[in-house]
Amino acid sequence: MIASNRALASLKKYFGYDSFRPGQEALVNAIMQGRDVLGVMPTGAGKSVCYQIPATLLTGLTIVISPLISLMRDQVDGLNDAGISAAYVNTTLDITEQEAVLERAAAGHIKMLYVAPERLETSRFRAFAARVPIDLFTVDEAHCVSQWGQDFRSSYLGIGDFIAQLPRRPRVAAFTATATERVRRDIIELLGLDRPITTVTGFDRPNLYFDVIRMENKRKNAWIERYVREHIGESGIIYCATRKETEELSAQLNDALRALRQSATLGESGEVNIPTAPDGSASTESSDGKTLAVAYHGGMSADARSRAQRGFVTDEIPVVVATNAFGMGIDKSNVRYVIHHNMPESIEAYYQEAGRAGRDGEPSRCTLLWNDSDIVTRRRLLDADYENDRLSEEERQNVRASRRRLLDAMIGYCRTTSCLHRYMTRYFGQQEPRTGGVNMPSGTLDMQSSAQAQDGQARCGVCSNCGGTLSVMDVTPIAYAICRCVHDVNQSYGMGKIVAVLKGSQSQELLSRGLNRLPSYGALKETPEARIRDVLNQLSVDGFLHISEGRLPVVEFGTRSQEVTSAHFHYDIKRIEHRNAGEVPKS
Ligand code: ADP
Ligand code: ZN
Repeated sequence: MIASNRALASLKKYFGYDSFRPGQEALVNAIMQGRDVLGVMPTGAGKSVCYQIPATLLTGLTIVISPLISLMRDQVDGLNDAGISAAYVNTTLDITEQEAVLERAAAGHIKMLYVAPERLETSRFRAFAARVPIDLFTVDEAHCVSQWGQDFRSSYLGIGDFIAQLPRRPRVAAFTATATERVRRDIIELLGLDRPITTVTGFDRPNLYFDVIRMENKRKNAWIERYVREHIGESGIIYCATRKETEELSAQLNDALRALRQSATLGESGEVNIPTAPDGSASTESSDGKTLAVAYHGGMSADARSRAQRGFVTDEIPVVVATNAFGMGIDKSNVRYVIHHNMPESIEAYYQEAGRAGRDGEPSRCTLLWNDSDIVTRRRLLDADYENDRLSEEERQNVRASRRRLLDAMIGYCRTTSCLHRYMTRYFGQQEPRTGGVNMPSGTLDMQSSAQAQDGQARCGVCSNCGGTLSVMDVTPIAYAICRCVHDVNQSYGMGKIVAVLKGSQSQELLSRGLNRLPSYGALKETPEARIRDVLNQLSVDGFLHISEGRLPVVEFGTRSQEVTSAHFHYDIKRIEHRNAGEVPKS
């Protein structure tokens, strides 16, 4: 096919690559044939090439909608370096500069023009777009159009209308790393894509070792410190939930390094070694010799943030301890590990952050540390932050429910005893088509796949579930007692009270409400409280119970609660025993 050869030539000429990655070629060809496309690929898989190559081949202008000014600048600089004339119009330019860019574009001197979605609302830009031939209209981060995704931006809602009122309709190419069925449907509908060629690719990253470890909060920092010390020659990212955690942990890591160096210089050789980098260089601390780790979060000054980022990208500081503010637009290929200190809010978020490991294709590790308190925290956060969105009450409910489903899938990833790679690719809909849409409750997904895993499906060799051994504990009596208690209190109390009743607490509040007279009072006196919470959480993830939303969550019965009263009811908790947590396996 002619388009294909020209596309390959262009790929070589401008980017120096010899071949397309999976999925890229199909999208490039579809665009060249005049079709609309929807490309679903994880960050780093190479979405940009899919519209940049067509842009070089088409005669008219390519407009790219991009949500972040900083990313715009990086892209445009990169394109100009590669010899593709590109520019952006945004608020960092004054009016005269903006006019100048639009004039150059109108005169045909610019191939690719990057703008933020808000720009489409201005009359100046509308007038420009009406008189300039636009061949390709690209929407990056297209999931921002959907209230069902993570980063809804109301300005994205104007894009569909803008395209529709253009005198000549260009082909439209939308790209996203968010793959849920619902978001995809929204993208197609709200951007008005015309029978788009849709491809979903590149979600499996076989060089990444996925590792999930359930761990009490108080053990986490010590575990991470040990890991970092054992991998001191390597570059890593540690994601924390709060700014405070990033500062505490980075300080702890630097203290540990200092102690290590001190004991080394004190001549305790033989006892303490500072490990050497894989390339044989003596030590990979920062050039000032003091900094092993640096914190990064949104509360730091722009200057401090860019210093931290630069130190990390240039390998001067091997480890960055960050909130999720870190990473957008960072292209560092030799990150050997990404550790999550807590459970992220969704698989999409996790995949994006963990996926910053191993861009160079070398074996790298993605470890997720979690425990049940993360679930509680995440649910609370879910109910909190919507002030900035101008949503009706109904929309708010919908967004909340959708975020909840995203979180449930994340919980499912933490709990699953089957292959983590398979869980990921299934979630992103790459291999097996999934019944009931992508937002399937995680419990269902878990049970189906864990059965398969136990039936001797091939072990992937690059995830902790395939590498570990499984232990199963029968918790049927605990599950039963919990459900009985929910019934006793008329589905009107939260988890804390239910646990207290089951434990037979003597607290005044409990006694004054007469809860000590309930049949389930003290039924689990001998069971550790953590185990009760564990089972209760799992019951809710599996749909036997339901934890209501709102400020004071109440434990209610879920859609499967009837099954508990059946004589055949049986309930297990499965755990992966970690044999080699902390070691990067030889692949
Ligand atoms: P995304 O937009 O999906 O996050 P990018 O387009 O930024 O990803 O691409 C990620 C990296 O992969 C870039 O460094 C890019 O140059 C590289 N890349 C893209 N396509 C190819 C290809 N066909 N062959 C080799 N490298 C590629
Ligand atoms: Zn596996």
